[in-house]
Amino acid sequence: MKYLFIYLLFPLFATAQIDRVEPPFWWQGMKNKKLKVLLYGDDLSKYDVKAQGMNLVSIEGVENKNYLFLNFDLTNQEAGNFKINLIEGKKTKHTFRYEIKSRNRNFDFSSFDSSDVVYLLMPDRFANGNPLNDSHPDLKDKLNRSDKDGRHGGDLEGIIKNLDYIEELGATAIWLTPLCEDNDPSVSYHTYGQSDLYRIDPRYGSNQDYKRLATSLHKRGMKLIMDYVTNHWGTQHWMVKDPPTKDWIHYFEEYTNTNHRKEIHSDPYASIIDKKELLKGWFVPTMADLNQSQPKLLNYLIQNAIWWIEFAGIDGFRVDTFPYNNPKPMIKWLEAIRLEYPTFNIVGEGWMYNSIHLSYWQENSPIAAIQGFNSKLPSVKDFALYNALTKAFSERDEYWEHGMTRIYKTLQNDFLYPNINNVLIFAENHDTNRINDSYPEFKSYKRIMAALMTLRGIPQIYYGSEIGMTGKKEKGDGDIRRDFPGGWKSDKKSAFNEKERTPVQRSYFNFTKKLINWRRTKSVIHKGKTLHYVPENDVYVYFRYSEKSCVMVIINNSPKKQNLSLDRFHEGIAGRTNGYEVISEKQINLAKNLEVLPETAYIIELR
Ligand code: CA
Repeated sequence: MKYLFIYLLFPLFATAQIDRVEPPFWWQGMKNKKLKVLLYGDDLSKYDVKAQGMNLVSIEGVENKNYLFLNFDLTNQEAGNFKINLIEGKKTKHTFRYEIKSRNRNFDFSSFDSSDVVYLLMPDRFANGNPLNDSHPDLKDKLNRSDKDGRHGGDLEGIIKNLDYIEELGATAIWLTPLCEDNDPSVSYHTYGQSDLYRIDPRYGSNQDYKRLATSLHKRGMKLIMDYVTNHWGTQHWMVKDPPTKDWIHYFEEYTNTNHRKEIHSDPYASIIDKKELLKGWFVPTMADLNQSQPKLLNYLIQNAIWWIEFAGIDGFRVDTFPYNNPKPMIKWLEAIRLEYPTFNIVGEGWMYNSIHLSYWQENSPIAAIQGFNSKLPSVKDFALYNALTKAFSERDEYWEHGMTRIYKTLQNDFLYPNINNVLIFAENHDTNRINDSYPEFKSYKRIMAALMTLRGIPQIYYGSEIGMTGKKEKGDGDIRRDFPGGWKSDKKSAFNEKERTPVQRSYFNFTKKLINWRRTKSVIHKGKTLHYVPENDVYVYFRYSEKSCVMVIINNSPKKQNLSLDRFHEGIAGRTNGYEVISEKQINLAKNLEVLPETAYIIELR
């Protein structure tokens, strides 16, 4: 009887419970005056909603009764903390406050561009600044540094503590692989299977720590690039577990993987099933493939992206697996972000080796225009050059196909790109073999870095290679993502500290530092034109030039010393008689033949 009494009384006092409000707050003064706030909680759709001090235009329910979407019009909205009531019948069942903040950031800040050198690092593997956050009671994957695929404890504090190191190296932007919560029970350290898009994974720190990192970088004149994933969420994501609509995620009768054939987009003969599998197939079984054509999901991704830019003060995006997304909604995603931040640079990853398919994805591509497509994506990654760089330096140039000719031929295709200065160039990243494994000799590293730091585009380097770190892709991803030596208290020696570096680490670091810092002030490298010559006898010669200055680059990729006749290069040398070679710090006389040493690069500032 007593229990029945409680049972009968309970509904009278029942209150609505809201588990999620997203975005958790917003700003006045955005160009887009519409805001859609998602509420999530048990059976929320039965409530009416009233907002005080905010213009609530409409309330939308979806198939899943646990969701409510509140549509606000923020025209004339003032900043403040506003009361929102959930009402059933005439009774208020729940009240919460929603904050509209004043904006505190200029929207036309400098994003990353070809004047930057980007340092890519994996936060779990760089430095453990706070051993107390290595595991978290709410999150399944616990610290296990002995497992190559386990969590090693690196975090935001570790990055902040070592910014002096990155700054000394000369890098001006850092790209961190994703940081939002990833609650996969294993291999969560790469964090591409995110489970909460509004929360920095507590094993890396807090949202405030992320903001603090951006602020620390800005104080140094450096930039933060966020790795954004629009294509998939982890299967542990709360919305994947209880989706708002059936079409939120791409489902198949049986598990279907993406076919990874990104070239399908422009393929005139592509079949419907192949297109479907590319765009809707899952990347891996633990990552649910998102349907960007679902308008509410697209809006969620737009608001979330803008929220991070405005909240943390990030300076650019790298977008994961770009061609795996539905391209038309992604145009809207890009336009919405660039409406608020017109100078914001966004580089998309599309792992293809042909410049036709790469340039297709850059905004205003004339090739894509043939098919009536314009991606609106400002920047792409130059995987064609990556492919050339990772092979060229261990080959002789045979049949005009190999060695230096690979790089030469890649550049010959640059006419395809609407903005060749805004492509990301690299010789490795967190998904590839490390260059120091492909090319174990220091002299090869020097030639690659000389090319990367003088070719057109935005150079990106990968943490640790600057001290000679190695790692073999064949041994698994964990091997190319080893811990930076010195990032953990138990490490015997720290490569962050100059005095503790081994002679080999010192050679790599000093060379890299010299080259990057030289590049820093050379606008002729950032924005200059290029002139190059057919490689002969494994020697590739190119010039970067502007009206004011000129840099001549000579890469002798042959094991032989060569006597280079300079007559052939008179168009580039343009009457100058001497130069300064940046690596050896020697004066060069251009009046006669130039003796070039085996397997050596020369960067000569002409005078
Ligand atoms: Ca930690």
